[in-house]
Formats: sequence, C-alpha cells, structure tokens
Amino acid sequence: MPDFGAHVGVQFAETASGHSSGSISDPVLAARLGAASGRSFTLDLQISIPRLQDFLASAEHLAEITGGAVSWKPDILGARVDPGGRVTMFRDADATRKRKFIDFAFSFPNASGATLSCRGIKELHQDNGCDAATDLTTINLTLEAGGKLAGTGIVRSNLLDFLRQVKTCRITGAQSPGEERAARDAFLGFVNGRLREVYDYFPLLFREPGALTPEQRKTLLLCARLLLPASLPPNGPQFDDIIAGLDRYLANASSSQLGTISDWLQAIGTFLPAEATDLTLCRILVTAELNKTERSPIKDVLQLIHTLIVFPYYAHPKADGLVGYTRPVHTPRNTPDLPVAQEPPDRIFDVVIAGSGPAGTLLAQRLSAAGKSVLLLEAGPYVPERTIDADEILWTARLYKDSALQQANTGIPLFGAQGPSFMVLQGACVGGGGIVNNAVCFRLPPQRLAQWQSVGFPISPGNLAAAYDSVARDLKIKPASEAGAPGVRLNPAWKFLTNKFGAPGKPPVGDPPEPGLYECLVNIDGCQSTGLCNVGCGSERKTNGVQVYLPRAVAAGCVIVEHAEVQEIHTADDNGAPLRAVAALTVRLSGGRTVLVRGQEFILSCGPIGSSAVLLRSGDLGDHLSANNIPVGQRFSANLGSPIFAFCNEQVNLQPGLQIAHYYFSQPGEGFVMETWFNPPGANAMAMPGFQQTHFDRMMAYSRTVAAAPLVGSEATGSVTRDLLGRTVVNLPVSGSEIGRLRRGLVLLAEAFLAGNIEYALAGLGNGRKLQTPADLAQFDADLQRIESDPTQAYLLRVGTGHPQGGNTMSNDPDIGVIDEQFRLRGFSNLRICDGSIFPMSAGVNPQWTIMALAHECARLLTA
Ligand SMILES: Cc1cc2nc3c(=O)[nH]c(=O)nc-3n(C[C@H](O)[C@H](O)[C@H](O)COP(=O)(O)OP(=O)(O)OC[C@H]3O[C@@H](n4cnc5c(N)ncnc54)[C@H](O)[C@@H]3O)c2cc1C
Ligand code: SF4
Repeated sequence: MPDFGAHVGVQFAETASGHSSGSISDPVLAARLGAASGRSFTLDLQISIPRLQDFLASAEHLAEITGGAVSWKPDILGARVDPGGRVTMFRDADATRKRKFIDFAFSFPNASGATLSCRGIKELHQDNGCDAATDLTTINLTLEAGGKLAGTGIVRSNLLDFLRQVKTCRITGAQSPGEERAARDAFLGFVNGRLREVYDYFPLLFREPGALTPEQRKTLLLCARLLLPASLPPNGPQFDDIIAGLDRYLANASSSQLGTISDWLQAIGTFLPAEATDLTLCRILVTAELNKTERSPIKDVLQLIHTLIVFPYYAHPKADGLVGYTRPVHTPRNTPDLPVAQEPPDRIFDVVIAGSGPAGTLLAQRLSAAGKSVLLLEAGPYVPERTIDADEILWTARLYKDSALQQANTGIPLFGAQGPSFMVLQGACVGGGGIVNNAVCFRLPPQRLAQWQSVGFPISPGNLAAAYDSVARDLKIKPASEAGAPGVRLNPAWKFLTNKFGAPGKPPVGDPPEPGLYECLVNIDGCQSTGLCNVGCGSERKTNGVQVYLPRAVAAGCVIVEHAEVQEIHTADDNGAPLRAVAALTVRLSGGRTVLVRGQEFILSCGPIGSSAVLLRSGDLGDHLSANNIPVGQRFSANLGSPIFAFCNEQVNLQPGLQIAHYYFSQPGEGFVMETWFNPPGANAMAMPGFQQTHFDRMMAYSRTVAAAPLVGSEATGSVTRDLLGRTVVNLPVSGSEIGRLRRGLVLLAEAFLAGNIEYALAGLGNGRKLQTPADLAQFDADLQRIESDPTQAYLLRVGTGHPQGGNTMSNDPDIGVIDEQFRLRGFSNLRICDGSIFPMSAGVNPQWTIMALAHECARLLTA
C-alpha cells in the first residue's frame, strides 16, 4: 500500500513553443514553413493527476489538462485551453516497452470562437544512444477544426524547464509533509522507471536534493574532462581540485543552488551517460554540440556547465601561476563590526525595511536619524567587509543572489516558451549590490529623465538633483584617479580608447554626463587597486551603504537582522477605509523558522526582481493587485553588456588595478556606455568565449588581455512573474534595437583596440569572434546586423547583466504605475517600494546613484 491517501494528487506544467502552419500534413515541413512565415505556436498547459493512487494502478496512465493557454500567431493570442483535455503518459508502442509515447489531446477556441482540437505526441525511443533530451522536449502537433486538418507543426520545451517541472511537481491533498514526500517519491519513481525502460542511462530524477548524488558527481567529472583541454598541465589545478572547489562553492551557496546545479547535471545526463567510458567518443559528441552554430538544447546546458567547470579551475590558487596572476592582499581599515541580530525584537517598529542594498541602507540611516525606530531585514548574511579576501569561489557563493546563478529568459521562441537564458547578477547580503559592485556612479542623463517623465515619472528634476548632491556628499563620490592612494593603478584598457576618442576627461560630480571619454566617478576612497571589487572590498574602500549609512543608522537605534527573508505581506482588514494597510510580514529566519513582524510603515527595498517577487507571492495582495490592474512585475528592464577582449602583444599585467576606471558615453538616453573592465581569473574565465583547448589558450594570455564592454539600456518589455508552481521567473526579451546599440558599441571598441598594438580582439559572438583586420571588422558588423534584423538569433551574442531594473514602475499613469509619487503601492497607506525596481525604464547608465537619490527622496517625503 502506498504511504499516501487516495485523495493525494499531482500537478505539473508543460510549456513549449515552435512553429506550425495550416493544411500541411508533414509536421517537419509545416514547422519550417511556419518559421519562415512567422506562424509561431506556444502552449502552456496545466496538468493534473487528481488521484495519484488510481493513476499509478491503472494500465493507462491518464492525467487531466485542467487549463492553460495557446497562441498560434498571428491569429490566436493566449486562447484559454478548454478543460477536459488529457495526457496519456508513457503509452507503450509494443510489448518490448522500449518505445513509448506521451500523448496530449486538448482543444481551444480559434479567433472566431470555433473549436480547434489539438493532438500532440512525444515519441521516446533510444535510437542513437543519446537522444532522450530531444525526445522529451519535442512534441509533434496535429490540429483539426470540424474534423478537417487545420495544421501541423513541432513545438519544443526547454530541457531544463521540463526536468524541473517534473521534479518540483506540486503535490495536492497531502495531510502531512510525510504524505507529501511519499507521493512525490512515488510519482518520480514512476517517471524514473518508465524513462529507464527506454533509456537505460537516463539520470534518475530526484526530489530537491540534499547533496549531489554519486551519479551527478560522475557527470560533473566527465564534463570537466570533456570541457577542459584533453590534458591539463601538471603544475595547475587537477580534476579533483575542480570538484573540491565546487563542493566548497556549494557548501557556502544559498540552498537553492544545489537544485539548480543538479538540474543542469540531470539535463546533461540525458545526453551523456554518467558511466560513459569511451572518452574519445564522448569528446566527439560534445565537441560537435559545442561547434553547432544553430541553437541546441544540449549546447545551452553545456554552456552553463562550462561555467561551473572553468570558474573553480581558474579561481584555484594553483591556476594563478599558469595565467600569470598575483593574488592581491587587502589592507582593511578594520572598522568595527556592526551589531546584527538573528531575529527581530518583539516590538512594533515605526518603519520596517525589507532589503539592505543601496536603497535600504540609505533609508535606514535617514529614517533613524529622523527619530523613527527602524527594523532592517536582510535575506542574506552579514559579512564584515574586512573578512573578505581574494577567494573568488567563497565570496561569489556567499555574497551573490542565488550565488551568482540567477538567470533571465530571453524569450527567444526557439527551444521552449522561455528560450535560452542569461545571467542576472545581484548582491544578496547586508549591503546588497553595494558590496559586490564596481562603485561606478552616474547621474541619470537629462534626456533619459525626460523619457521617464514622458511615462509619468513624478519626481521633479530639481528634487532629484538635490538628492544626487546629498548622496554625493555622503559617499564622497569623486573621479577614479582621486579615489586611491597616489599612483592608484587605473584599468589599462582606457589607453586603447584614447586612440579613438582622445584623452579622457574628468567628469564633474555635480552634472549629468555629456558624451565623451571620461574617468569614472566612483564611491571609493583610498582604493588599494586590488581589482577585486566584484568579490567584495576586503580593504573596506568602497564608501557604500554598509560603510557610510549603517553605522550611523545603528547608532541612532536601527536594528539589523541578517538571514531574515520576507516571505509574505499580510494586509489588515480595511473596515471600509479608502486606503488599505499592511498589518505584518511573514519573515523566514536562519534555520527555517518563520516569525510575524509588525510595524507602522513598511518599505520594500528587496531590489529589482526581489521586491516584485515578494508582492507576487503575497496571497493577501493578489486580489487587490488584479482588481485594480496594478501591473506588478511588468516593465522589467536591464542594462545589457557584452564583453570584448584585446589580446595585446606584450604583458599589460596591470591586474590588479581599479576594476572599472573609464567609460565612453555615446548619445545620452539613446546610446550606450562603454566600460573598461577586468576581473580576477575565475570571473574572467566565465566571460571568456570558447571551450576546451581554445578557451584554455585564451586564458593563458590572461596577463596580456584587457577588456571593455558596451552597456545598453534595454526596453521595458521584460517581466517578473510566477510560474504555475509558484516560482519566480524573470523574462527579458532581447530586441533588435538593443542588439543594434550593442553592435555599435562593440564595433567602436574593436576599432579602438585594433588601432593599438594588439595581436587581435575577441568578441563574444558564437564561440568567440577573432578580429584582426578591417575586413574582419566589416564581417563582424555585418553578422551583428543580421542578428539585429532577426533577434531570434540573439543567442549567438554573449550578453549578461548586473543592472536589472524595473518591475514596480513609479508613475502617475495608472496603466503602468505600481507606486505613486509618495512611493506607496497604489491603494495602500503604509506600504512603500523604494529600490531599483521602481525605475519606469532602464537608466542606460549604472543605476546605483539614481537608486540612492530616489531613496533620499522617499525618506524626505516620509519624514516631511
Ligand atoms: C557585479 C555587479 C557590479 C555592479 N556595478 C555597478 C556599478 O559600478 N555602478 C552602479 O551604479 N551599479 C552597479 N551595479 C548595480 C547596483 O549594485 C544595483 O543596481 C544596486 O545594488 C541595486 O540596489 P537596490 O537597493 O535596488 O537593491 P539590491 O542592491 O539588489 O539590494 C536588495 C537587497 O534585498 C535583499 N532581499 C531580497 N529579497 C529579500 C526579501 N524577500 N527579504 C529581505 N531581503 C531581501 C537582497 O538580499 C539584497 O541584499 C552592479 C551590480 C553587480 C551585481
Ligand atoms: S579595487 Fe575595488 S576591491 Fe580593490 S581596494 Fe579598490 S575598491 Fe576595494
């Protein structure tokens, strides 16, 4: 007898996208024609097994399609799936049980309301030894209307999404955690068993793991052997060092990261048997995938795993000698530790602030100084900055949100509705992004502010300017060359930019930037040039919120609680009042215990993504948000960057130095910023294009490379949402105009580099595009123009962001505004949002100074 009751069920989701066209019976041809004519097909199905016991016991394993949506562009957009559809799971083709089908049958209305019925089929069959990934993610579709063929096509799901959806399925009706666990085990056992009947190497799907399974460790080791050069130098790190590095990363990482990595390993295990012994054959298979120019679900995952391998390899001290890196040592100021609590005191505070990034720390100081009792809740740990050293693995795991594995979906409709993804870096510790950022400070260009105002941004230019000035005084913002001890080393990449743009100017602190080449303004004082800004400044030279604001806040009575994650917002009974109020927050403390925190006023400063996520998972708020059309999570944007490396003929070897020291600024509000930058070896290896021996050879030139990257503000077309299982999903479609601006920045940078004494420049196009001659540059430009005109190819260009923005727009326009001119969630009297999530569109320049200026304004309004 199973250890769960008859009413226990399972819910999961299936999302897929692709192309189809009408009246053609061959799905492959129909998909090809559909792609050419822009007829995309996406499906998003909610699937339920109401009684798991019956499902498992029956010969025909039938699940119900209970809802979802279908789009068949251009005619059908988001049609709701009719209830009553069915999924037959693992139907055997014959008695051998080696060939199975998963059948989908459902219907939905077309544009004129007539019913379209859809049949989908996944065929599972081990034909060439390694095709489970393709089989499980590919659905052949047939559509009928009134009994006549209406179309065929092919849709595909994202392999990682598919595995994750099955693994984290929602169990319904369980009366206890034990019953839920038993039901999940039974369901996963069923799926594992059926898949193993077809694919004998298939990696077993487990519940959220407590540690990597032995099978996953083998896969990891196998990947390390296949993604690094065939033989490693004996004086550098060895395979065991990589695994030990990853173990150390995981031991310090936020808990969800084990799940993410185990998903990646499981996905790769659908392609590479963990027990594979023929390394030569595996290398041929992997190399073929890596060299594909078209998108492949396996290449997507191999790229993610590549970062897991090269990061611990090059961050290992044994790699320093190989790449010619001298590990810098910090000279801390030894500022006293802040008193930080593990749980909130049992009293009602005037203001409860969630999130301690640049916004939260400034708010805590201003409001405490105004005599308010302030509680500052931070989901991450408190790490005294003087304890930080050059250990990239440790500090990346501890200081970053999702330990630097957070991703956004590009929404490129090729493999799965959510498409391939890119990394979104955010800090997650007391101090937030201010601890790991590069301390570059920009005022919003006036042209960009005008664009913000055109969508209802209510803060006046005068108030904003005064707020910038106040923050500049607090943080001692100054040009980079004045931020260090005499002789501070500035990133050498700027020397190349002078070939093109002349000598860099010193930007005034009091004015927004004009186009041109400048030193950066930075919130750094007494810089020691360690170049370690992104793993935290152990020298305590960043004049960030932790150094400047929190000591003053604490002295004025502010209580800081670390490992305190706001889970949910609870509203008070409105008793007919025109505005609603928040009564309390549920806060999860270290060790998993939850407490209720009450206050008079509440401010969400959990950062872009974080603040929207809290609002979206607060059940009490859900009805209010939908009844009042408050678009929480919409208009999400980011500054997107794409690096380009210059391989010099001689040792530049100025690493370490000040990490980002110069920038070139093009048309304000419309163009791009180009930043010079470099990283310590681990981070550099993750940004460096290429795989295997090629990647290794490029890394061996570490001390001869400098880098720079254009940064462009994306359009506000992204979103932060929750999926059917309640997890936060970040979407940021990449558009042609963004690619166009990245292209112009990359081409200019390449021209500047090539005018200097370099061997070649390397851009992040495909597996790395080498640029040496004007003809190379022209070809590069032409290839990027092709992507610009067809952004579904955008996956070919490496992009990433450390500057997510938006989601909770501040605007007087009720169609887009989430918060009003008082920073209040619309319709609420005592819930404010103040952080980078309130930007109405991307700043296009580094955002932290603007975020802090807005926090200054929020505090001014609250204390007026
Ligand atoms: C590597 C890197 C380099 C950067 N360089 C620069 C730069 O040079 N110049 C610049 O202007 N900007 C830079 N940025 C961006 C800048 O750091 C961010 O824009 C800024 O930190 C955002 O501030 P914030 O207050 O909105 O949120 P965050 O800094 O993201 O802080 C939010 C805090 O809230 C916490 N939190 C989240 N959810 C919860 C919850 N539910 N409960 C409690 N706490 C929660 C998080 O852990 C985090 O500490 C960089 C960012 C990165 C990652
Ligand atoms: S380079 Fe960055 S990490 Fe190093 S001392 Fe200067 S501010 Fe700190």
